[in-house]
Formats: sequence, structure tokens, C-alpha cells
Amino acid sequence: MSADLFTTIVTPNGKTIEQPLALFINNEWVKTDSTFETINPSTGKPICSVFKAGPVHVDQAVDAANIAFKSSEWSDLTGSERGDIIYKMAEIIKRDSELIASIESLDNGKPYLNECLGGDLKEAYEVFKYYAGWSDKHTGQLIGSQVLGKNKICYVEPIPLGAVGGIVPWNFPFMMMAWKIAPALATGCTVVMKSSEITPLSALFFGKIALEAGLPKGVLNILSGFGADVGSAMVSHPKLAKIAFTGSTATGQKIMEGAGASNLKKVTLECGGKSPFIVFEDCDLDLAVEWAYWGIYYNKGEVCTSTSRFFIQESIYDLFLKKFVELTKSRAITTDPFDESCTIGPLVSELQYNKVKKYVELGQKEGAKLLSGEFIDGPGYFCEPFIFAGCTDEMTIVKEEIFGPVVAITKFKTVEEAIERANNTTYGLAAALFSDNITKAHTVASKLEAGMVFINSNGDSDIHVPFGGSKMSGIGRELGSYALDLFTENKAVHVNMTIPFK
Ligand code: NAD
Repeated sequence: MSADLFTTIVTPNGKTIEQPLALFINNEWVKTDSTFETINPSTGKPICSVFKAGPVHVDQAVDAANIAFKSSEWSDLTGSERGDIIYKMAEIIKRDSELIASIESLDNGKPYLNECLGGDLKEAYEVFKYYAGWSDKHTGQLIGSQVLGKNKICYVEPIPLGAVGGIVPWNFPFMMMAWKIAPALATGCTVVMKSSEITPLSALFFGKIALEAGLPKGVLNILSGFGADVGSAMVSHPKLAKIAFTGSTATGQKIMEGAGASNLKKVTLECGGKSPFIVFEDCDLDLAVEWAYWGIYYNKGEVCTSTSRFFIQESIYDLFLKKFVELTKSRAITTDPFDESCTIGPLVSELQYNKVKKYVELGQKEGAKLLSGEFIDGPGYFCEPFIFAGCTDEMTIVKEEIFGPVVAITKFKTVEEAIERANNTTYGLAAALFSDNITKAHTVASKLEAGMVFINSNGDSDIHVPFGGSKMSGIGRELGSYALDLFTENKAVHVNMTIPFK
């Protein structure tokens, strides 16, 4: 192994990792003429430098993916044979999950044990296993002569879109890639993935996994680089058939514009949110408090579905606040993410730390009451969770996505008021509600403008269930069989079976 292409990293939990540093194009590690540092958010110090892609590498990767798409090594495989390779990838992820989770925790700051290993890596394995199973089951349809009339049939076949691009954020770096790569490969697409410039390390492991699992060259390509040049070059590339994007709404809008202006490429967008958490007086309050905690503090609040706006019914408002503050103070342990007691790791970057700080200051300035939370002096980007009570819907911390452990709590009187105020946002990703009244719970769920609603639960994500948002939270769905439809298009072949005249 060339020292330039790989470096050895020993993580704080004692794992020795051969970390790839180069781009992965056409099953080769590719050096470029520039690099960028990736920072450990627990210390504020660089972990290492990785090679930086530019538009020229996008061209190389897209060419490789297009050639691979047409190659017999890939396109001649049966669904079941593709499934075998994807299943091998799943097994490698499972075998290497401690290593990948360690590098993820180092690069992102999320708690190693429960959130990286027990959360993201477990799910990435499940995603690959699940889509390995789909590879030979996404078959299509026959529309027969009983429908079309005598002597006519039509068959409809889901055809893979071709070489597709994936662009992911820094909050679930490995898992967001898994959500895109696995269904894309299951349908027969080939892939060019770009990681976030803030967390490029775990993404490069996909190169190792592809090589070991025997993916033909060019089927999966991984680029480390920045949005402004690499991301936008992918979006405007005429030979990519689709961009599967996860990230902020502002970037999602640019992607949609660019994709339309280039070759009308398909887009799926998983964007931001400001999800409501509604607690009715007839609920199991302790249950609601538990899920409230989980829904805002998991992954340090750096979660798109994070329920950051609480609406608590007036009669239980004070008791809810008391219990929620108590739980937060007893359970939230802000410390090194490799410490097993850690429940809140450092925010991902200095930029994110300063952004959260700005919102906390705004919350105080605009009159919200800070019940708990402090920033912790460096090194690293640590903060405690922040609880704001007495909020109003006009406050900035109630309106804007903060993407940190900051919750804005308000009270409401009636069911109708709760629904109206919960929907009073441009976002529509998720919503949670707590009530023991089954009729009320389902009625409210039906009226909430969100792609995902949780009743007496919060933040559930399951590989079998579609994930995605409405309004400005996105377009399309990931996971489940739904993702397969978004990596294929239906081709209809009309067949005339009239016996020719002699
Ligand atoms: P971001 O939009 O800044 O960046 C996301 C990715 O887009 C990165 O890889 C970045 O390099 C790239 N990018 C930036 N500008 C680009 C451009 N002009 N063209 C192409 N690519 C570009 O988002 P972030 O700060 O990395 O992540 C946080 C955001 O992601 C939050 O808003 C969060 O809600 C959202 N998110 C959504 C989901 C979901 O499933 N809905 C999941 C996770 C995160």
C-alpha cells in the first residue's frame, strides 16, 4: 500500500485503521494535485488530509460509471448475481463495522458505541442486506389482452436509469451513502458518490468494500470534494441520469435548478426540516418526555427529522417542562464521543458550533427563556443541550432549522390550534404527536403536513418504510421498495399479436 494513498490512523478506542486518502475511480485509488484537511471535532485538530477532487475527476468518474453501466461485467449480471455482490458488501460492512464506526465517530463526533456502531453501521448493514434481496424482485408488469383488447399486450419493465450521482451531507456520512448506493446497485445503476467535505473519511471505505466484494470496475466511484465545484459539476453533468441528494434545502434548490438546466436529470431531494412534537394532555406523559429527549438530542440534534419545535398542551405544560429539564440534566452527558457514557458528542465543526451559538443568542435576544444549556470552552466544539421555553411562533429559533441540540418549547390550547401551528412552516419532513386517544391521534396525523408522522413515538426510520419529506423538505422517497422506483424508469413495450394477412 502506498503511504500516499493510505494512512494509518489509531482511533481513541484503540482501532488501527488503514484509511484510504485518494479518490476511488474505476476501481483504482486516484491521487490529485491538491488535498484538504478533515478536522476532529473533539479537538479542533486535523485528523489527516485527503485528496481533493475537481471537475476533471467528476468527468473521469462519470465516464467510468457510464462505461461500466454498458459493460457486460455489470449489465449481463442477473438480478440474483447483483444481489450476491450487494450481500457481500453487507457482510464486509458487518465485519468491519467497528473500524468504520470508529473513523466515523472521529470525523463526525457522534457517540461511538450507541450511535455509530449501534446506529449507523448496523443500519448500513441492514440496508445492503435488504436491497441485496430486492435485486431479483423488482420485476415489472404485464398488461394483458383482457385489458388492452384482443391481440394486444404490453409489458412494462423497470429499466435502470444509468450512471447516477449521489451527494450527501455530514450528519450521517456512511449511512446516507448506504441509503443511495444499495438501491442504485440493486436496480443495475452505476454510481458516482460525493461525500461531504466536512466528513470525507468513512465514505472512502466504500472503495475498499467495492474491491473486496468484487464490484466490476466503474460501478461505484467515490469522490471527496466540495459542493461548489465537484457537487455542481455532477449536477450539470450531461452524462449523469440522476442526482440523489441529501442536504440543506438551499442546496437542494440549486440542485433542482442545475439538474433541470443540464439534461433534465431526475432528482430526489432529502432536505431540511423543523419538525413539530405535539403533546396532548391525554397522553402518557413519561413516554412523551422520553421520546422528546430522543427526538431532539440524538446525534447532537444534527438530524434532519429532529423534532425541534415542541407544542405542549396548556394543562400539562409546567409538568412536561419539569420532567423534560430533569431528564435532560440527568441523561445528557456531553463528552468525548469514544467515552461510553457520552450521549452528546461535539458539534461537527467550528462553523456549526458558531451557527448554534448565533441561534442561542438570538433566542435569548428575542425573549425566549433559557432553562438549560451552556457552551463548553474548547478544544473541540462541545455544548450542552439548550432548552428554551415560553417561545412564540415568530421567534427565529422556532422558524429556522438550527441543526443542533436546541429545542424551542411553546404551549397550545386546542387540537385545531396545535395542527395549524405545527403546519405553519415551509418544511414538511416529520412530525410527532402523543395522545392515548386513538381517534384523535389518527385524525391529527392525517392533517399534519409531513412526509413522516410518528404517533406515540419519534424519529423512527426503518429500511422497509419510505423516508422523505413534503413541502420544502424534499422530493421523492428513500428506503423500502420506493427507492427502487426512483432509480429506474418504466419502459412500456406494446405488442401487436394480430395474425398477418396472407
Ligand atoms: P449542505 O446542503 O450544505 O451540503 C450537502 C452536500 O451538498 C455536501 O456534500 C455539499 O458539498 C454539497 N453541496 C453544497 N453545495 C452544492 C452545490 N451547489 N451543488 C451540489 N452540491 C453541493 O448540507 P449539510 O450542511 O452538509 O447538511 C445539513 C443539512 O442536510 C440539513 O439541512 C439537514 O436537514 C439536511 N439533511 C436532510 C436529510 C433528509 O433525509 N431529509 C438527512 C440528513 C441531512
